[in-house]
Amino acid sequence: MKKRLVIIGNGMAAGRLLDELLRRGAPERFDIAVFGDEPHGCYNRILLGRVLGGGSADDITLKTTAWYAEKGIDFHVGVRVCRLDTTARVIHAAGGKTYQFDVAVFATGSRAVVPPIENLLGPDGAPKAGAFVYRTVADCERIRAEAKPASSAVVLGGGLLGLEAAKGLCDLGLHVTVAHRADTLMNLQVDRTGGMFLRQAVEQAGVFVRTGAEAAAVRGTDRITGVALKSGEILPADILVLACGVRPRVDAAEASNVPVKTGIVVNDLLATAVPGVFAVGECAEHAGKVYGVVPPIWEQCGVLADILTGANPMARYRGSKLYTRLKVAGVEVASMGAVDATNDSDEVIQVIEDRRGIYRKLVIRDGKLAGAVVVGESDSAPALARWFDRADPLPPNRLDVFCSPDVSAAAGDPEICNCHHVTESAIVGAVRDGCTSLPQLSAATRAGTGCGTCRGALARLILKNSPKAVVNGTAAHA
Ligand SMILES: Cc1cc2nc3c(=O)[nH]c(=O)nc-3n(C[C@H](O)[C@H](O)[C@H](O)COP(=O)(O)OP(=O)(O)OC[C@H]3O[C@@H](n4cnc5c(N)ncnc54)[C@H](O)[C@@H]3O)c2cc1C
Repeated sequence: MKKRLVIIGNGMAAGRLLDELLRRGAPERFDIAVFGDEPHGCYNRILLGRVLGGGSADDITLKTTAWYAEKGIDFHVGVRVCRLDTTARVIHAAGGKTYQFDVAVFATGSRAVVPPIENLLGPDGAPKAGAFVYRTVADCERIRAEAKPASSAVVLGGGLLGLEAAKGLCDLGLHVTVAHRADTLMNLQVDRTGGMFLRQAVEQAGVFVRTGAEAAAVRGTDRITGVALKSGEILPADILVLACGVRPRVDAAEASNVPVKTGIVVNDLLATAVPGVFAVGECAEHAGKVYGVVPPIWEQCGVLADILTGANPMARYRGSKLYTRLKVAGVEVASMGAVDATNDSDEVIQVIEDRRGIYRKLVIRDGKLAGAVVVGESDSAPALARWFDRADPLPPNRLDVFCSPDVSAAAGDPEICNCHHVTESAIVGAVRDGCTSLPQLSAATRAGTGCGTCRGALARLILKNSPKAVVNGTAAHA
């Protein structure tokens, strides 16, 4: 008799876990059910900017509601799980719905932090009219409905999400100011100089930036009219976007007595202390770490699928080496490992191309790449990631890491999709096997379904390698 496997949450981790489970033939062992409290199939949260810019949820959907039915998955769309009775093995969902399970996986992600700023909340305890968080399709639709050209917006937070929201609003014709508490932008991922280059690029794109700027209070009675900074400056605003970080969503786990610290605590098997209950994605805390980007989540989902299906019961998740390659507000940024020297023997190499707005930095420890930052381009990032990942001794002339022919040869089969580690040869192979459009190529290889940065390169490879292809209206060999 099949066991009942329930996934709680239907975000990027759940979507990936389903793919990994199906790939390993899980439906032969399990009846699978998914509960998601958003009213959509799983979508690519990374591409939310498209919805802010006027697109619809369909533009970023990874799995339509029909997909779940086709795969025999019992999809409870728009249903929030309140708690698990882990003794009786029953899920209690909103509206009184109950569901029996044998194995449960929390994939509940994160929620946006609403900072304790004076006068921010209305009488109902939610941010007052005109103030928004930026996490879901619904948030983006609400922001867009209020974002009128020539009005003004303040974005609190100059990290990845804040800069994405700021660029999106700027593209809609608003006057946008980012107020960031630290002295440089994206200070969690890039060093000071990198942050300054990023600021330059963001300002060139039309966004105003205040750093070292902390909000003291929100202005306005029924709806917000501005933000008062601790410095005394008032930033007028018709719209306020709160991009002040995220916290794991652990409410349902806590209500189920599943141990939680910052996130839901898991071991190397992604198992919680409660037998048969697992967690993956941004809600999971492994070895004291909670991850906020997708590459570690992909690794976790692969391991968990191996364990649940028995495909590889010895699979273990040992934590992830952080490598991030992002397009932030139109600016390419890559960051990995240590972004600053931490001891006297660390070597630091910085290469600055002022005119082109490109900044590259290497942090070298014991002759190996301990970390790197690149702002303004990211073509060198995959090669750097390889040096970082393999911890190979670097060439005596450190700059060769960026440009020597040997290094290019070492990179012989470049990784085109960094989110899913898909190489050029795999893409060319898939195109030659008949994938002549981006959706076909993505379905076959997963390339392009992460951050989307590589989609231009994918289109070029399709056009180059398939005489019949038409991508975005451009025909190969036209
Ligand atoms: C604007 C933006 C840009 C980003 N850009 C990048 C990027 O460039 N690169 C990168 O690597 N990462 C990026 N990220 C981060 C990335 O999107 C997340 O790491 C990823 O979405 C986490 O996946 P998850 O499934 O763990 O959580 P989520 O995607 O948050 O999904 C969790 C889902 O579970 C649902 N849920 C929660 N609790 C319950 C419950 N009790 N019952 C039912 N459903 C529940 C939630 O509503 C949600 O739908 C970005 C994020 C945002 C918001």
